[in-house]
Amino acid sequence: MQSFTVQPVLNVALPVPLRQLFDYLPAEAGFDPQLGQRVLVPFGRRKMIGVVVGITDKSELPAEKLARVIEYPDDQQTVLSAETLALLKWCWRYYKHAPGEVVFNALPPLLRKVNGAIPAPPVHYCLTPAGQVRLAEPPGRIKAQIRLLQQMATGPATESQLRVHSPTWRKSLSRLIEQQWVYSKTRAPARLDITPGPQLLDEQRRAVDAIKLSLDEFHCHLLDGITGSGKTEVYLQLLEKVLARGGQALLLVPEIGLTPQLVNRFRKRLGFEPVVTHSGLSEGQRLQAWALAKSGLARLVIGTRSALFLPMPDLQLIILDEEHDASFKQQDGFRYSSRDVAVKRAAGLNVPVVLGTATPSLESYSNAKSKRYSWHRLRQRATGAVEPRWRVLDLIQQRMTGGISATAMEAIGETLDKGQQVLVFLNRRGYAPVILCHDCGWHAACRRCDANLTWHRARHVLLCHHCDSRVQIPVMCPECGADALQAAGEGTEQLEQMLGTAFPDTPLLRFDRDTVRKKGEFQRLSTQVKAGGSCLLVGTQMLAKGHHFPEVTLVVIVNLDQSLYSADFRALERMGQLMVQVAGRAGRDQLPGEVILQTHYPQHESLLTLLDSGYEAFAGDICADRHTACLPPFSFQALLRSDAHEKDDVRAFLDQARRCFPSGEARVYGPFPAMMERRSGRTRWYLLVQADRRPVLHRQLDEWVMKLHKLPSARKVRWVIDVDPQDY
Ligand code: ADP
Ligand code: ZN
Ligand code: ZN
Repeated sequence: MQSFTVQPVLNVALPVPLRQLFDYLPAEAGFDPQLGQRVLVPFGRRKMIGVVVGITDKSELPAEKLARVIEYPDDQQTVLSAETLALLKWCWRYYKHAPGEVVFNALPPLLRKVNGAIPAPPVHYCLTPAGQVRLAEPPGRIKAQIRLLQQMATGPATESQLRVHSPTWRKSLSRLIEQQWVYSKTRAPARLDITPGPQLLDEQRRAVDAIKLSLDEFHCHLLDGITGSGKTEVYLQLLEKVLARGGQALLLVPEIGLTPQLVNRFRKRLGFEPVVTHSGLSEGQRLQAWALAKSGLARLVIGTRSALFLPMPDLQLIILDEEHDASFKQQDGFRYSSRDVAVKRAAGLNVPVVLGTATPSLESYSNAKSKRYSWHRLRQRATGAVEPRWRVLDLIQQRMTGGISATAMEAIGETLDKGQQVLVFLNRRGYAPVILCHDCGWHAACRRCDANLTWHRARHVLLCHHCDSRVQIPVMCPECGADALQAAGEGTEQLEQMLGTAFPDTPLLRFDRDTVRKKGEFQRLSTQVKAGGSCLLVGTQMLAKGHHFPEVTLVVIVNLDQSLYSADFRALERMGQLMVQVAGRAGRDQLPGEVILQTHYPQHESLLTLLDSGYEAFAGDICADRHTACLPPFSFQALLRSDAHEKDDVRAFLDQARRCFPSGEARVYGPFPAMMERRSGRTRWYLLVQADRRPVLHRQLDEWVMKLHKLPSARKVRWVIDVDPQDY
C-alpha cells in the first residue's frame, strides 16, 4: 500500500550490497535537495554517506517511518550530473548489481567517506605590482616567501608548483596574500598549443576524416590498426579538433598501458598537461582529478577503467585504447565492461567513441563486420618498418635448456652479437611453477586454492599466485620424507638466471610483477632499454603492451601451448591477441624483426591461420566456430556465481536457484564448478544463463534476481550476477 506525503521523498543509494534504494525525508532545515547530491543519513545505528538518485512524492513506507537526512555535506553541490546518474542507473539495471555499490564505485574514494569534501575550484597565484616591487628588493629574512614570489614571477603558479619550495609553503603563502603581494584567481582551462605531428598516411587520413565527420553524433568506430600503424596519431588529430572547439575528451587505457611516456606524448603535442587518473594514485590526487574533470578545467583526461565515470560537462569524445584488453572488465564486486559502458555513455551524450586495437575483441570484430561499427583498418606500419617474420619451432625436435630450445638460443646469440636487443616472453613469473617429489609424486599445492605453489627462488618461498599465501620451502618431501624434491617447468626468474649464465656479458632486464613492484620501476627499466645497445629483456605480458622499444629485433615466445587446448572458449582469442601484441614489439624501427614461436603443436589450425593469414582471418575463423556453437558474441550470457566455505552450501543455493529460474527463451545450465573451484579457502560454482536475444535474457534475469534474494539458502553463501562474463 502506498501512502502519500506532502514533502518530497529522497531515494538514496547507500554503499551496501543490497539491490535496493532507501527512502529518506529531507533534512529539517535548509534547501530542497537535488538529484546527485550527497547526504548523511542514519542507517541502523550508524551514520552513512549516500547519494540522492531519485526524488518522488511517495514512498511504500508510511511517512512517519521514514528517517530524515542529517545533513548535506556538500551544501548545494552535486557529485553526479544528470548524465552520469542516468549512466549509473543503466549500469545497475543492466548488470543487476546493488545500486549503492555501482554509485560508490563511480565516486573518488574520499567522497565515499563521511569526512571527505568536494575541493574548492583550483586557483592560480599571481604577483601583484607591490609583490613585483618586493621581489626586486633584497630578500632579507623572508627567504621562503621570496622563493614563492620567484616561482610566481615565471607565471601564474598552481599549489603543486608552490608546494615543492618549502614544507611551510601554505603559511608563507597566507603571509604573502596578507601583504597584498600575491592574489589568487580561478584557474583558466589549459590553452591548447599544438605542435604539428607527422603528415598522415592515407589510411590514417581516411580514418581521421571519417571520424571527424561524425563528431556531433553517436557513432562507434573500430580503429583496427596493426602495432606501430599510428593509431595514437589518429587519436591526437581527433583530440586536436575536439579540444579546439572547447570540448573535453576522455582517453581510457589498460591498467599497464598508462605510462609516463604515453602522457608525455600527449603533453608535447597538445601543449598542456593532461589530467591523469588511476587507482595507483593517492586518494587526494584522485579527488583532485575528479574535481578538475567536473569543473571542466581538465580538457583531456587519461585514465584506466574507473575514469569512465568521471563527471565531464563538455565531454565530446571517448577513446578506448587497446579495447580488447582484459583489464577493461572489472572482475570483482561490480563487474562491468568499460568498453560496453563507454559505448553506452557515448550514446547517451550523442558523441563518437573510438575503440583502438591491433587485435579487436571478437565482440568488436563482429560489430564491425555487421556494420554496427565503422571499421577503419590501418595495415601499414607508419614508420615504414616492415612487419616481423615468424619462425615456428616444433619443440618435439628440439634440445631444450631451461625452457628455451637450442635453435632459439642460437638466434638469441646471433642477434646480440649484432648489437641488437632480444625480448624473451613467458607469461609466468617466479622460478618454477611446480615443486614435486621425484619419489612419490607429491607436489606443493596451495591449501586454500586449487593451484600449485610457485617457487620464488630468490625470495626463498613458495607463493600462491591466486591468494598470495606463502609457505616455507620444505627441505624434504612432507609426504614420504625423501630428499628428492625438484622443480618442474620454468618461470621468468629461471629464464633470467639461465640466460644470464649463457650470455654473461649482456645486460639483462626482467619485467614482471616481482621486479616491477615499485612506482617508476618500469620507467627506469625501459629507459635503460631505450638507451640502446645489445641487451636481453625477459618478461611477462607486462612487456606485451604498447611499448616502443626500437632496438628489439628478435622476440622469443617461450610457451603459449596451454591456451591452444583450454576448456575456456575465450582462451584461443586471448592467445592470438597476446601473440600479435608480443610480436608487435619486434622490428618497430629501421631494422627488420623476427619472432620465434616455440610450440608442441605447430600444425594447430588456428595457429596456422594466424601466422599465414593474420589476425583478421584468425578472428574470422574463431567467429565462425562460435557462431556454430552459439557462443558469444552470437548469444548472450550471464552467470550466477556463488561461493562459500562449504561446498554443500553453494550447491544447495545453486540447486534452489536453478529451480526458481523463470521460464522463457533464456535457458539455465549447471551448476558447474568454477575453473578454479577452490580459491582463498572458498568453494566456487556457477549457473550459466544463455539466450539468443539480449532483451529476453534481461527480462528473465530481472525476475530471477527478485526471487534469489528470498531463497533461504542465499543467506549462507555469497552470490553475484555476472552479465557478459569473461571468465568462468
Ligand atoms: P600505434 O599507436 O598504432 O602503435 P603510434 O601512433 O605509436 O602507433 O606510431 C608508431 C610510430 O610511428 C610512432 O613513433 C609515431 O610517431 C610514428 N608515426 C605515426 N604516424 C606517422 C606518420 N604518418 N608519419 C610518420 N611517422 C608516424
Ligand atoms: Zn615424496
Ligand atoms: Zn592460494
